[in-house]
Amino acid sequence: MKHLEKNMEEVLIEGGFAGRMNLLKGEILEVENVDGHQVCDFFAFKKDEVKEFLSPSHMRSVMRRTFIKENDLLYSILRNPMLRVVRDEVGIHDFCVPACDPMRYSMDFNVSDHKSCRCNLADITKDLNIPYEYLPDPLNLFQETSVNSKGLITGGISPALPGQKIVLEALMDLIVVGSACPQDLAPTNNFNPTRIRLRKVKESA
Ligand SMILES: [Zn+2]
Repeated sequence: MKHLEKNMEEVLIEGGFAGRMNLLKGEILEVENVDGHQVCDFFAFKKDEVKEFLSPSHMRSVMRRTFIKENDLLYSILRNPMLRVVRDEVGIHDFCVPACDPMRYSMDFNVSDHKSCRCNLADITKDLNIPYEYLPDPLNLFQETSVNSKGLITGGISPALPGQKIVLEALMDLIVVGSACPQDLAPTNNFNPTRIRLRKVKESA
């Protein structure tokens, strides 16, 4: 029976905002849906070479599917495994669609100056000097997105319940970012963005 030693290090992200954490190879990260029904746009960069990052398109190619499950390896743009899924209490995540951004709110909702996951990522990684246009796409944790047999993409409210988590192991030294998606104009976050917690835990036998 494994147990988790809590509170080694944590970042509580308010709804609509982003948080960032460093992980050493072998460290375990919990991503918790604190209040429920909240998407976390998740990004990971190789710590010493941020041009290598978690890449949803390469994950789709290597994994040959659009869902993840426990023990899966999650791949970088160079097809190196960056993370392993240790445990997943939700089972619904998306890696087909990009982060929300100002143009998404402008084009689809006629709203300007809305907070977005892409701008959250840009702001919290300014020191990494990645041009906005070259920021990576997210792994949208807890996001309900489906592609039907006709190729149509549909979405719904995040099914994650309060307190549910996905647990990931770093397979290299990483910088990780989570954005508690600020989308409040579509059902994604039940029209009410809420908190996400990133927490390092120690798994021991
Ligand atoms: Zn978003």
